[in-house]
Amino acid sequence: MQKFSELQYCRPDIQAMRSGLAQDAERLKAASSFEDTDAVLRAHDAALREFATMANLASIRNTIDTSDRFYEAEKVFFDTETPKNTPYTLAYDEALLASPFRAEIGRKYGPQLLALTEREAKRLSPVLIESTIEENRLVREYQKLLASCRVQFMGETVNLSGLRRFQQSPDRAVRKAAAAAVSDFLGANAEQLDTLYDQLVVLRNRMGQLMGYDDFTPLGYLRMGRTYEPADVARFRAQVAEELVPVCTELHRRHAARIGVPALKIYDETYQFADGNATPEGDLAFMVSAAQRMYRELSKETGEFFDFMVQYELMDLLTKPNKRVGGYCTSLPAYQAPFIFSNFNGTSADVDVLTHEAGHAFAGRCAGAAQPLLAYASPTLEACEIHSMSMEFFTHPWMELFFGKNADKYRYSHLLESLTFIPYGVCVDEFQHIVYANPALSPAERKEAWHALEAKYLPHRDYDGDAFMEAGGFWQKQQHIYARPFYYIDYALASMGAFEFYGKMQADRAAAWEDYLRLCRAGGSLPYRALLKLANLSDPFEAGGVMRAVKAGVDTLLAADDLALQNERTEERCK
Ligand code: ZN
Repeated sequence: MQKFSELQYCRPDIQAMRSGLAQDAERLKAASSFEDTDAVLRAHDAALREFATMANLASIRNTIDTSDRFYEAEKVFFDTETPKNTPYTLAYDEALLASPFRAEIGRKYGPQLLALTEREAKRLSPVLIESTIEENRLVREYQKLLASCRVQFMGETVNLSGLRRFQQSPDRAVRKAAAAAVSDFLGANAEQLDTLYDQLVVLRNRMGQLMGYDDFTPLGYLRMGRTYEPADVARFRAQVAEELVPVCTELHRRHAARIGVPALKIYDETYQFADGNATPEGDLAFMVSAAQRMYRELSKETGEFFDFMVQYELMDLLTKPNKRVGGYCTSLPAYQAPFIFSNFNGTSADVDVLTHEAGHAFAGRCAGAAQPLLAYASPTLEACEIHSMSMEFFTHPWMELFFGKNADKYRYSHLLESLTFIPYGVCVDEFQHIVYANPALSPAERKEAWHALEAKYLPHRDYDGDAFMEAGGFWQKQQHIYARPFYYIDYALASMGAFEFYGKMQADRAAAWEDYLRLCRAGGSLPYRALLKLANLSDPFEAGGVMRAVKAGVDTLLAADDLALQNERTEERCK
């Protein structure tokens, strides 16, 4: 493989791809032995890898510079042409499902390949082609709108990611102004943000109905590959609301005391300590070399993985104008190469990228080596997020490399933010359930619904009179809500696994790491709950599951706070 910058992009011949799919379907029907069938499976896998590699390469280069016309056109090409592959994909799927060699396929690849094929056949339909193209177009528009953000702030031109740094300033007035700048940007684009989401909801509702459902939700679940029902998720959310929210409210109260404000406002939420947050102690090169040392020391596997990422330039980390906001990990399957994208802004979030997105990338590399099929390269997203969120915890002992003497502060903040994120995660999920169950809601009614959910899951949140946020607009910068419906509960569910690993690594780190490695290597060869079992993790839907999973984390946070308060009191007495 060449370095990322030298990789040659070539638009795939889509007609050849389609006729290949049609021929593979015919060859499956004509196969007289399992060997013949398997040869088709492997050829099909190779074709998919090639196609996905070019599609992802174009998409990565488009997100790195959204003003590059060439890759924008390529992104439009994939967004428009891929949905039209549907009839060919379905013909292949149906031929595979009708194969007389199903038992042999199951013996060689396990039952998951046919299960995945069945699910794909259920979620795809020629009746959805036009709507899918339109959906992709609307999502592109939303992402372009967010990427277009340019704010003049304290003498710098920054985008939404760049503003985050100022939201952690020790100067409260700066934090407040940075939060206001975000609201101002969203408020100035309110009409377009409302219209885009409204169009997406109406469109997705129609897609659900075209598939014979009452609304979009069942199709949304199929698209996410869910192996559980909305009722299971609702029970999980209820546990969070009843048991975890009160803990978070108490931590919120202590947070205000810690930074010395009478009441915590929205712009104080990411400011963790009276003398400032822990921030990384160097530039990009410093961060990458610290991460390289960390992964080499962590294990042989992680060392090889990160060296590979560095050698082939598989990370684009710095924030810059015209770059899409946020961070993600994707892959170039033809090379077994993950790719990490992010917007470094000088805060501790940059380290989170080097652990979170690197967790995804590491798992992708493990599964790529262990699994024979692209279909098994990665599992459903609530399992993928266990890879990433657990790596954030597994790397805790190396945080001195990034934060020096402030490493304890980082570990504390990271744990706190990971925990208090969970109510927000389920809030986003319930919001989407309400939206898609009630597609006729007006944009203003959707915002009211969001605001009501904030009262339930984030009762301590205080927008300090920010009109846009108090009207319920916060969710409009949450890209998943526009781009990937129902993708968000995944983070809350995965938090359970990650916190469980956090507890296990206190008791027996080596055993926890073995469980984690097994999970990563299994990739998507098993469904979600089977993966949990394989990694010795509990089922988050079980009664009491939430508090059991987060217990070690909560105990650490409360004990650390008690200790800090005690020290303060001792200091007072000494004075
Ligand atoms: Zn992730």
